Amino acid sequence: MNTKPSAPRWIRKVIQQQNSYHVPPAGDFIKLDAMENPWPMPEEIKQGWLDALSAVQLNRYPDPVASALVSRLRAVMEIPADSAIMLGNGSDELIQAIMMAVAGENSTVLSPSPSFVMYEVLARACGLSFAGVPLQQNFTLDMSAMRVAIEEHQPAVIFLASPNNPTGAAFQQAEIEEILNHAPGLVVVDEAYQPFVRDHREDFMYRLKDYPDLMVMRTLSKVGLAGIRLGLIAGHADWIRELDKLRLPYNINSLTQTTAAFALDHWQEFQTQIDDICSERDRVFSTLSSLEGITAWPSDTNFILFRVSDDRAKIIHSKLLNKGILIKCLHGASSALDNCLRVTIGCPEENDAFLEKLLEILSDA
Ligand SMILES: *Cc1c(COP(=O)(O)O)cnc(C)c1O
Repeated sequence: MNTKPSAPRWIRKVIQQQNSYHVPPAGDFIKLDAMENPWPMPEEIKQGWLDALSAVQLNRYPDPVASALVSRLRAVMEIPADSAIMLGNGSDELIQAIMMAVAGENSTVLSPSPSFVMYEVLARACGLSFAGVPLQQNFTLDMSAMRVAIEEHQPAVIFLASPNNPTGAAFQQAEIEEILNHAPGLVVVDEAYQPFVRDHREDFMYRLKDYPDLMVMRTLSKVGLAGIRLGLIAGHADWIRELDKLRLPYNINSLTQTTAAFALDHWQEFQTQIDDICSERDRVFSTLSSLEGITAWPSDTNFILFRVSDDRAKIIHSKLLNKGILIKCLHGASSALDNCLRVTIGCPEENDAFLEKLLEILSDA
């Protein structure tokens, strides 16, 4: 008789080698680690949202194509009329669908590094090779390294998070165009932070018509709706038609469809929050930059990456925790991120608390 589960024999080796996605418990901390919008649904519209939710028929399956939601997304995100779109239970699910669609022993997924960790995690889980091309020291693209890597790996897919997580800046438009011109396969521009970008002429949603192998990904997670899990990808119908075969039926639940449609009907309220977050970001950045021993990188997102001196990232991270503030420690994630920490922009009181505690810690030393 077996006394032990046979999982080690059957679970694929790449899966056994992987770690689960770890989310630290939030406890009573001021939570500035996950790029969430700090503000709840505005009070003035909350009752209207609850009314909309109470009309949802939970006994029925959701609208399989989420048509009411799709038309609002198209309007608010200015998706070109001749581009197709697919919705995901968060953009993570869309990244996964892309990996499953191109998976094969000889296929490679390429992305600059450091970037969003799910590209590598999901590529490997699907049995793909992953090539991370180091960014330059200032976290801009190393175009000659990109050209060489594209030539060498002939990647099925290139992921470009722009603005990039965890570094915060957008890549140069001309460089993304050059990558589009050299890529043999799909190029996904992940615009998760597009709402926080200063100059929207840089958005690639408007460039879909120019590049048949370009897809643009967006999410509602960073703008106040992380809890409902809604992402989207737009691109040529020839790509979307294939990806859609991998989408699980009814992947966007009814509560998400209704909530997202409601939010998009009241987008100005969310836009106001986004504008406030952007001005707080600029305030936190200038304070951080003025501190001795800290290098902060300019950000077009709702977070700021900064480096501390004297090998103190882990100490500062845990001292902040002791003072009730949770940010992200990136030290150890890759050598490019040595002694780097990432703080998400919260509401003004939270940002003040973070800056005040950080200053205390720095002047203790
Ligand atoms: C947060 C993030 C996502 C994932 O967003 P979800 O829609 O919540 O799955 C995708 N890409 C980047 C670059 C991100 O930072």
